[in-house]
Amino acid sequence: MRIGILTIGNELMNGRIADTNASFIAREANQQGWSVEAIMSVGDDFAAIKNRLDYLLSMTDAVICSGGLGPTSDDITTAAIAEAFGLSLYTDENVLSFIKDIFTKFNLRWVENNAKQAMFPQGAEVIPNLRGTAPGFLLPVKKKLIFAIPGVPAEAKMMMTEGVIPALRKHFPQNDQYAEKQTIKTFGLSEAAVDDRLKDIDFDSMGVSVGFYPVFPENHIVLIARSKTHDEAQDNLQKAQNEISSRLQDYIFSYGERTLEEVIASLLTENKLTIAVAESCTGGLITNRLTDVSGSSDYLERGLVTYSNKAKISMLGVPAEIIEKHGAVSEETARLMAEGVRKLAGTDLGLSSTGIAGPTGGSKEKPVGTVYLALAGPQQTICRHYSFRWDRKRNKEVFSEAALFLLKNYCETQISKTK
Ligand code: ATP
Ligand code: MG
Repeated sequence: MRIGILTIGNELMNGRIADTNASFIAREANQQGWSVEAIMSVGDDFAAIKNRLDYLLSMTDAVICSGGLGPTSDDITTAAIAEAFGLSLYTDENVLSFIKDIFTKFNLRWVENNAKQAMFPQGAEVIPNLRGTAPGFLLPVKKKLIFAIPGVPAEAKMMMTEGVIPALRKHFPQNDQYAEKQTIKTFGLSEAAVDDRLKDIDFDSMGVSVGFYPVFPENHIVLIARSKTHDEAQDNLQKAQNEISSRLQDYIFSYGERTLEEVIASLLTENKLTIAVAESCTGGLITNRLTDVSGSSDYLERGLVTYSNKAKISMLGVPAEIIEKHGAVSEETARLMAEGVRKLAGTDLGLSSTGIAGPTGGSKEKPVGTVYLALAGPQQTICRHYSFRWDRKRNKEVFSEAALFLLKNYCETQISKTK
C-alpha cells in the first residue's frame, strides 16, 4: 500500500516546531510494510491544503493528515478537506455531547467554537480521540482514503496506532497476506556494526523485511514476515530472529516493545532485589529512568546525586584520600560510591556513575566522554569503564544507558547462577 503524509500548520512552515508527527507516522507505516511515497507539510491555508492533497492522492492509496483539528479559527483542516471535495459539513451529535461532557467534568466554560470539533465532512467516519477533545476522521474519496488526526503528538500517536492503522488494514486487506512483526532492541553496537554482523543473513529468502532504527543510544531492528498463512509468517519470523540472536546476543535487551527500564523492572521484581543509586555525572538521570516504570518503588530505595567531592565523602563515605589519589572520576571512586550507597540504603544492590560529560573538564588521560560505572552486590562489586564521544546531553544519556545495561546483565547472570 502506498501512503502519503500531510502535516498541516503554520508553525511547521515557519520552523517553530519540528515535524515529529511526520516521522512517527512514516515509521509506523513502514513497520506495517507499507511504502511512504511522499511527506509534505503545508500551512493553514484552504487552497494550499487542497493542492497538496490532490498531489498526494495522485500517487497514493491513502493520505494521513495531522494538525488543525482544534477549536480555534486557524484550525481549518476539516473545512479545507470538505471544500477540496465539494462536501458539506455535518455535526456528529454523539461527539458533540462527548466534548460537552469533558467541559462539564473539568469545569471549563463552554465556548461555541468548540462545537467545530464535532463537525465532519459528509461521508466521513469518526476516529475517537481518547487523549483529547478533537476526534479525527477518515473520509473515503475516489476509492482512496483520507485520514485527519490532531497535531498534538501524543494524540496523533494514539490515533495512528489505534485508529488509522486498523482502519487501513481493514480497507486494504493485502491479498490475504499475514504480516508478523518483531522489534529487537540492542545497545552497545553502532548501526554500521549491527548491519555488518547481519549482512550474511538472507532475509529475502525467508520472506522477511528488516529495518534498522537508531533510537539514541539504542539501535532497534524491526522484522516483518509476510506469508500466505499465519503459521508460516510466524515460523519465518522466528527463523530470522534466531539468526539475529546468535549474532547480536550480548547486545540485545528486548524482544518486543519493552524498554530497558521495563526489562530491569521485571528482573528486579521477579528476583526481589532492591537497589539504590549514587550518581555524579548523570545528575539523577539513571534514577529518573528507573522511576519511569510504574511500581518502581518496589525495588528502588533511593537515588542520590552526589555531584561534589564533599557529597561523595560525607554522604557515601568515600575516603577523601581515594578521591585525592585517583580522582573523582576513577574506578576506585565509582566502586566506593556504589558500595557506599548500598550500605547507606541497606539495599541488595548499589549502582553508581562518575565521569566527564563535557565539553569542559577533560584531560589527556581522562577525555570528555570517560565514565566509570559500578554495581555493588552482596558478593562483589563490578566496575565498567567506557569512553564515549558525544556532546554533553548525549553523553549523559549514553552513560545512563550503559549503567542500566550493566544492571540488566548483572541481574541476568545472578538468575542463571541460581537456576
Ligand atoms: P488542538 O486541538 O490542540 O488545537 P490540533 O489538531 O488543532 O490540536 P494543531 O493546532 O495543529 O493541532 O497543533 C497542536 C500542537 O501540536 C502544536 O502547537 C504543536 O506543538 C503540535 N504539533 C502540530 N503539528 C505537529 C507536527 N507535525 N509535529 C509535531 N508537533 C506538532
Ligand atoms: Mg490547533
